[in-house]
Amino acid sequence: MKTKYYFDNAATTPVREEVLQAILPYFREYYGNASSVYGIAKESKKALEKARAQVAAAIGAKPEEVYFTAGGSESDNLALRGIAEAYQKKGNHIITTKIEHHAILHTAEYLEKHGVEVTYLNVDEFGRISLEELEKAIRPETILISIMFANNEIGTIQPIAEIGAIAKKHGILFHTDAVQALGHVPIDVEKMNIDLLSMSGHKLGAPKGIGAIYIRKGVAVTPLIFGGAQESKRRAGTENIPGIVGMGMAAELAVKEMEEMTEKLTAMRDKLIRGILEQIPHSRLNGHPTERLPGNCNISFEFIEGESLLLLLDALGIAASSGSACTSGSLDPSHVLMAIGLPHEVAHGSLRLTMDRDNTEEEIDFILEKLPAIVQRLRDMSPVYEDYLKSQK
Ligand SMILES: *Cc1c(COP(=O)(O)O)cnc(C)c1O
Repeated sequence: MKTKYYFDNAATTPVREEVLQAILPYFREYYGNASSVYGIAKESKKALEKARAQVAAAIGAKPEEVYFTAGGSESDNLALRGIAEAYQKKGNHIITTKIEHHAILHTAEYLEKHGVEVTYLNVDEFGRISLEELEKAIRPETILISIMFANNEIGTIQPIAEIGAIAKKHGILFHTDAVQALGHVPIDVEKMNIDLLSMSGHKLGAPKGIGAIYIRKGVAVTPLIFGGAQESKRRAGTENIPGIVGMGMAAELAVKEMEEMTEKLTAMRDKLIRGILEQIPHSRLNGHPTERLPGNCNISFEFIEGESLLLLLDALGIAASSGSACTSGSLDPSHVLMAIGLPHEVAHGSLRLTMDRDNTEEEIDFILEKLPAIVQRLRDMSPVYEDYLKSQK
């Protein structure tokens, strides 16, 4: 079935039309290597520096504090590995959370095998960390706090400014994975005391395979990739100018339109959440009711499997996700849903619908019209549901 209703914007977004038009000339007209000296190369260099300024402006940073990478995963890897190595004489302890993206969690696990100690903070039932627990976890040898801005599965937004204040008070570097937040939630690295911040292009209407990292001036980071002197020697490799131009433009547009989009998406999100919870018994919202991404709806349905739900939705042309693309295909329930305390079987019945600029009110109505019957159909086939009904008699 062709996808007609795209509700998986947290997994990726289509490239925006304006962005596509802006990047096309950089494939065949201005294809020069930004490190060279002739005409078309100077065009590439100019485009590179314009995009850097656009990304910097989107987060309140200086252009020279923004470095382009090949995506959010690379930025996350660079933040953790780069800081752990550059500050190993100062200490070997990092604090993060149990609900980070795997680009953080698997990097942290790797570092643990190489002598770094990692504390994984718990979250409450809504997916928020406790500032008290964070402060208690700080040791003299703590060099980095890495806590995501907004969660990709349940949409919960962390108290970033408060975390930044704690990190600053203790003289510890603060990194945040802001891949899901950029363009959806106001970000100011100065006011929020953020020292490093990860971004990705394809979650915001730019192409896949382009990302950026903000590194505060004066912070040392050992590079992951060695070679040429690109990106002030922090990330070697000939720059992906089309991707970079797209990322700069997408970031600028998203911030410019944020207020309007937040209003539209929050209204659609809340209508969707309310409609589902009202119509479908034994369903619950995952994540924070208000401190959540404007386009994120994540709901668990008891007695069914999220994977089966996805297949029936796909048959109607609806694209969604059962928690996280990284965990689908495996039998492990999402680590995020486990961390907020869902029992295994409830976590397995979770559905994530994520909306962005192209979604419409009519699409919400379509989902609300179809979903209750689909869930009921799956429950009618479920032995667990049958047992539940018997137990109620
Ligand atoms: C998508 C995502 C990433 C990875 O970004 P890529 O550009 O796909 O490598 C990292 N963190 C979060 C929170 C994400 O949603």
